[in-house]
Amino acid sequence: MSAGFGIAQQRRRIVRDAEFIVRARSWLSPAIVQLELAPLHARIAFRPGQYVQVCDPAYRLPPRSYSVANAPRADGLLQLLVTAVPEGPVSGWLTGALGIGDRVLVSGPYGTFTLPPQIERPVLALAGGSGWAPLRAMAEQAEQAGFPHPFHVLFSARAEDDVLDAAQMRQWQQAHRPFRYQRTLTRASGQPPLGRIPQVLPTLYADLSGMDVYIAGPPGLVAACTQAARSLGARPGHVHTEAFYSDPEPW
Ligand SMILES: Cc1cc2nc3c(=O)[nH]c(=O)nc-3n(C[C@H](O)[C@H](O)[C@H](O)COP(=O)(O)OP(=O)(O)OC[C@H]3O[C@@H](n4cnc5c(N)ncnc54)[C@H](O)[C@@H]3O)c2cc1C
Repeated sequence: MSAGFGIAQQRRRIVRDAEFIVRARSWLSPAIVQLELAPLHARIAFRPGQYVQVCDPAYRLPPRSYSVANAPRADGLLQLLVTAVPEGPVSGWLTGALGIGDRVLVSGPYGTFTLPPQIERPVLALAGGSGWAPLRAMAEQAEQAGFPHPFHVLFSARAEDDVLDAAQMRQWQQAHRPFRYQRTLTRASGQPPLGRIPQVLPTLYADLSGMDVYIAGPPGLVAACTQAARSLGARPGHVHTEAFYSDPEPW
């Protein structure tokens, strides 16, 4: 964004409402569906890490926020990772009845949970569940920039089946020395690391003062990881968070 650009002008430039069509959908884990949404007319210009609001074209359901899980593409495709929440009206629709060819309304982008355009420091990304979505978009941005600095991911999953994108991340790790993807399991045995991120982090890192830490997922995970990162020396201005709060009903 150029200096001196007023907020109203910025909004006009980047905030859009657009109709998208479901191009693909697949279960990435027992709890998480990946949706691929293709723009019907207008694309949405976003930065990796930002989120959009999604609702049904008949406005029967309230809009809900979902982080975009990919870096921007020429065709305007948006990938979303949606956790199936029991009794959740919108996540239930997105992970259930919504099928290939159906339309959804998307608005956005929103949020400031983003990497700088030029990555300046090593990054540590901490995520649980669909909190991986904005961090995957950032990892794609870093990959496109050739990983100028180390980019480490620690992903928290209940069991091996819940680990997202493991095969793709193994490939990246082999191809790019600065990239590292580790998972920790919270409710299953297996290869270490095992346990919640706050317990595991001190066994992997002695000092986080030189890293930018990005944390996304359920509010409890974000709060606990923030505390853990700070106690390992992460500087306050270098800890960035996106908590997936439940959106309130519009009134
Ligand atoms: C900035 C932002 C980004 C987000 N990005 C994503 C994303 O990328 N992927 C994603 O899946 N969600 C994301 N969310 C959460 C999403 O907006 C919805 O809150 C969620 O999908 C539930 O909506 P719902 O209408 O199905 O259920 P709601 O009516 O919101 O909730 C139904 C019940 O389930 C509880 N609940 C809500 N979420 C969960 C959960 N995850 N686990 C257990 N219980 C829950 C609620 O407290 C409530 O009791 C994000 C939220 C924010 C604020």
